[in-house]
Parts: sequence; C-alpha cells; structure tokens
Amino acid sequence: MRLILLGLPGAGKGTQAHVLADQLGLLHISTGDMFREAAANRTELGLRAQEFMSRGELVPDEVTIGMLLERIAQPDAEKGIMLDGFPRTIPQAEALDAALGERDSQIDAVLYIEVPEDQLMSRLTGRWTCAGCGAIYHEQTNPAPEVLDCCTDAKLTQRADDQPDTVKARLDTNREWTEQLADYYEAASKLHHIDGTGDPSDITARLLAAIETVPTTAAEA
Ligand code: ADP
Repeated sequence: MRLILLGLPGAGKGTQAHVLADQLGLLHISTGDMFREAAANRTELGLRAQEFMSRGELVPDEVTIGMLLERIAQPDAEKGIMLDGFPRTIPQAEALDAALGERDSQIDAVLYIEVPEDQLMSRLTGRWTCAGCGAIYHEQTNPAPEVLDCCTDAKLTQRADDQPDTVKARLDTNREWTEQLADYYEAASKLHHIDGTGDPSDITARLLAAIETVPTTAAEA
C-alpha cells in the first residue's frame, strides 16, 4: 500500500504517520525528517535545505524530488510507504506519479488531515520531540513524562522552525499548495478528508477507517 498524509504544518501528520506506519507495516518517509537529519550531519544537501527551512520556505523541487525518488527506490520501500510531507507541490506530485507509474505502481490513497488554523499555531509552538526516537509531545495536550523513557537515547528538543515567526511563515507558505494538492488528488478520486481535531487515538481510528475503504492493487499491497 502507498499512502500520502496531507495537511498543514501541525495537522498531526508526523504523529499519525509514526503510529500508522507501525500498525500497517509501511515504511514511514518524512522529507522534513530527511532534511533535518542531513542538516544535522552537515551534508551539502542538508546545508542547502537548512537555508530554506529556517525561513519557513519550501526546499526547491529539484533538491526534494531527487532525494525522495532515491529513497522510495530502496528495497525497504517495497513493503509499502507512508509519505509524510511529500508531495508539497504539483511538480512533486507529478514526479511521484511518473516514478511509480514506471514501476506499474501508484498512490492508493491520500489522507487529508484537516484542523482549523487557529489550533495549528498553538500546536506547533508547544511541540517537543525526542531526539532519540522522534516521539512527539506537546506542552498542553500530550506532555512528556517527567522521566523520559521512550528510548535509550531519550532527550527532548524543540524544532528550530517551531518558533512563532517561522511557524507563521510556514503556514503562509503551505496553505496554498495544500489546497492545490487536495484538488489534484480529488481529481484522481484518491482524496479522503479526515477530521484532525480531538484525541490523537480518535484521529488514528478515523484514518484507519478511511484506509479500510481503499481498493488496493491487492497482489502488491
Ligand atoms: P511541517 O509540515 O511541520 O512544516 P516538515 O517536517 O514536514 O514540517 O518539514 C519541515 C521543512 O522541511 C519545511 O518547512 C520545508 O522547508 C522542508 N520540506 C519538507 N518537505 C518538503 C517538500 N516536500 N518540499 C519542499 N520542502 C520540504
């Protein structure tokens, strides 16, 4: 199965992708995580991406598309993928369709997690992540335990681009393309609207219910 999680920053893509990929046995691919890792390792790609990320802008397509297509061509992607943060532009969506089409494959469904914008700002600015395993916590809604025991390397960090000014820029950047991509996948009859408000486990249940209705190319799912 090949799924895309679509939604504005803070909609819960990362949180849900972790849980769903695990439950469904899919490879979770987050282009944001890939860029952050490359930046932390100070690779050429990472340093280039960081310039854009720190301004809340999109990394240019020519960098992003190549990186993603290379990743989904790895053997561990054969079990199925859960894309989180890609595609973010129409050329990215078209490049993805073309690359999968060459392998007689396709995206099975796009899950559009929708959350009113006034909630997104507080979600993002209160967000903390474990540097060891990527677990996501929130100051109000999902506080990290006093003794962090999610993994052996547990340590809480806040993303550099979760500062209020950059959050606003990210929402401005992403609003338009998210709608464009929703239209693109609606036209392909692949779009599912998911209410992204409320308890994370309820949102997971809504996502799973939508995924159950998806006709897969069964033999290769
Ligand atoms: P969020 O959805 O919360 O903004 P991500 O972790 O998905 O966070 O992405 C962080 C940053 O990485 C983005 O603001 C952008 O600069 C860059 N990025 C991630 N994925 C893409 C993509 N598909 N195209 C362009 N830039 C991307």
